Amino acid sequence: MLIDGHGRKVDYLRVSVTERCNFRCQYCMPEKPFSWVPREELLSYEELFEFIKVSIDEGVKKVRITGGEPLLREGLDSFIKMISTYKDDIDLALTTNGFLLPKSAQKLADAGLKRINVSLDSLKPDVAAKVAQKDVLKTVLKGIQAADDAGLKIKINCVPMKGINDNELVDIIDFCKEKGYQVRFIEYMENDHASKYAKGLNSEEIQELIKKSYNFEKLEREGSSPSQEYKLEDGYVFGIIEPHKDDFCATCNRIRLTASGVLIPCLYYEDAQSIKEAIKNKDIPKAVAILKDVLANKPEKNKWTEDSEVSARAFYETGG
Ligand code: SAM
Ligand code: SF4
Repeated sequence: MLIDGHGRKVDYLRVSVTERCNFRCQYCMPEKPFSWVPREELLSYEELFEFIKVSIDEGVKKVRITGGEPLLREGLDSFIKMISTYKDDIDLALTTNGFLLPKSAQKLADAGLKRINVSLDSLKPDVAAKVAQKDVLKTVLKGIQAADDAGLKIKINCVPMKGINDNELVDIIDFCKEKGYQVRFIEYMENDHASKYAKGLNSEEIQELIKKSYNFEKLEREGSSPSQEYKLEDGYVFGIIEPHKDDFCATCNRIRLTASGVLIPCLYYEDAQSIKEAIKNKDIPKAVAILKDVLANKPEKNKWTEDSEVSARAFYETGG
């Protein structure tokens, strides 16, 4: 079992397979970065899998593949197959912008993927295009349907932004309710890489907007889910991810591995350690030692709880 320096059990590993992306979301990567990490500096799928095996052997129960846009990296289905066949009860999930799902959803399901989170910030083509800086909506909706048809369990992620999609939150709930997907609204996390015009809504503001159409109650927080759930009168449950709240970090069970082998203990801070050399040298005891050291130094809290704090970390690098 993996326990961090604050006594929290860590059993969830998020693995970013690429920092590259085919969208330019205002809150994440509004402009193409000055340079990408060269491909030859990335860990191969086999090398990433070596570390995933180590983590599973040490107690990780849930693995999420993310990015950048993970479906941009070729052979993702084979990577998923490696993980799903190593331990068939591993909770294996993927977070994607959905654009490449029409072609890949069935292959991913066949490889053993069970769950998928798709980002959907708007149901209006022009607004979705404004957020992603590309005409994406039709293809993303096709992708979500393809994932549904392939039998994947779907959650929708939406980042509410002031003056952009804040008049659509109820429409997004209605869409997800009808389709049987859970929606989770994610509070915008201020970061140096986002557009300087990006302004998010906090949980209270999100709730106020939804209250205009629906009554709902706050549910007891369960396990280490980052999402606070709320139940509408008809039983539909939506979530809000509230990193600006004091208690958000109390049950944090996550660590993150980037495509270049950097192990990150917290989404906010820049501290991290590389497991790249240990994995390339097949030095598993060293990889385990680095993992334990990173956990021992995992910060107790992010800093978004403090007014006007901005993280220097890029979401497209850490995988969100
Ligand atoms: N490209 C994929 C996607 O967009 O779903 C996966 C990577 S993305 C970095 C993972 C999640 O982080 C997405 O749900 C995205 O909306 C969220 N995200 C990115 N930047 C964010 C920010 N500044 N604040 C809150 N959520 C953010
Ligand atoms: Fe790409 Fe996802 Fe970031 Fe949007 S949120 S730019 S889709 S990595």
